[in-house]
Amino acid sequence: MISIDFSIAIACFFIIIINILLISWIRGKRHKDKDLALDTKFVWFCAICAYTYINTKDENISICPRCGSYNKK
Ligand SMILES: [Zn+2]
Repeated sequence: MISIDFSIAIACFFIIIINILLISWIRGKRHKDKDLALDTKFVWFCAICAYTYINTKDENISICPRCGSYNKK
């Protein structure tokens, strides 16, 4: 009786641990995808020197870090 209860407790413990790992893994993956989507949103391409850079501060117009020209989205 005690051994059956103990094995059930171990099984429940492992199921809970696996669920926690699975949920954290899925959440981490989703968070990573969201970050990647944000990164592509802030990628700028300079029309003057063809330089690709990331600017998270500005939305409409940003200054190219290489040549200093203004770029419009
Ligand atoms: Zn430039």
